[in-house]
Amino acid sequence: MVDLNKLVRENVIKLTPYSSARDEFNGKTGVFMDANENPYGNLNRYPDPYQRELKTAISKVKAVEEEKIFLGNGSDEIIDLCFRIFCNPGVDKALIFTPTYGMYEVSASVNDIEVVKIPLNDSFQIDLKKAEPCFSDKNLKLIFICSPNNPTANSMNYQDIEYIITKFNGIVVIDEAYIDFSEKPSFIRLVNKYTNLIIMQTFSKAFGLAAVRVGMAFSNPAVVQYFNKLKPPYNISTINQKAALGKLNHIEQKKQQVFRIKKERERLSGILLKMHVIEKVYPSDSNFLLVKVKNASYIYNALVNRNIIIRNRSSMVDNCLRITIGKKSENDQLIRALKSISI
Ligand code: PMP
Repeated sequence: MVDLNKLVRENVIKLTPYSSARDEFNGKTGVFMDANENPYGNLNRYPDPYQRELKTAISKVKAVEEEKIFLGNGSDEIIDLCFRIFCNPGVDKALIFTPTYGMYEVSASVNDIEVVKIPLNDSFQIDLKKAEPCFSDKNLKLIFICSPNNPTANSMNYQDIEYIITKFNGIVVIDEAYIDFSEKPSFIRLVNKYTNLIIMQTFSKAFGLAAVRVGMAFSNPAVVQYFNKLKPPYNISTINQKAALGKLNHIEQKKQQVFRIKKERERLSGILLKMHVIEKVYPSDSNFLLVKVKNASYIYNALVNRNIIIRNRSSMVDNCLRITIGKKSENDQLIRALKSISI
């Protein structure tokens, strides 16, 4: 059991958070003359700072109590808050398994936090032998595990993740942005078992709301309280809260879209495998494919010239391209374009 008070930055423990007008009174009806709002219009009132209606709906869908849920302006805000709660600038460190999602490192830099990078092994799995010696570093406060991982598309071994949670005396953040596209279980249930665990999910992928910017964190209530303490008071707009709520009220639509994307993932993967420009298609638990080619830059540019934009990930994995699964017609367009490229 980790001691949260020892992990949280001292200034964060001490700070008095901003108290908004809606913190003091949050009833729905009344004459509101407390927040210097314009009395006219539909969007004239500040949003609920704690997004209660949305959290009630998330709580039902995810079977997690409301006090264990925090919502951020995208997962990216949650990543930044993790650094600001737990890491002293210029002193503390975070560990990531590379190649992985770029924002962990960017956010660390913004907060002047050193990043320890442990490369994934040849099967894109965590190398525990390399990682474990770092756990005793007193300044190591955060470990980010992206599973399924971007850009490698695979999930990390369940036992390896649980081993890290039990052996590391800091905070383990598991980024499950792509979990809905995976057959593997989420770690969300384990927030009831481990106090040093934060699970991140998002409305940007399977829910189809990337434009809306709503990220979810699931953790123990004490960590959630620290998130609430540090966040800007009205971090999720009323429009965005409603958009996310709308998706939860039509959960069948999300399930159907995930089903279609997964079906297209298998179809596209099968076709790509047979193409001479493709050397390897890595297994995917995500809504994208990582493919190895002979000349990634050439193929990337040839596709751009045909108005098809994919991601060149060669700087992370040699000669690899990342392809997001599109609609069937878009995937067909990509296949036609690849067939027309001569190398
Ligand atoms: N985590 C991972 C692994 C991602 O790939 C992305 C976006 N590409 C995010 C988080 C960002 O999520 P959000 O849109 O909720 O900020």
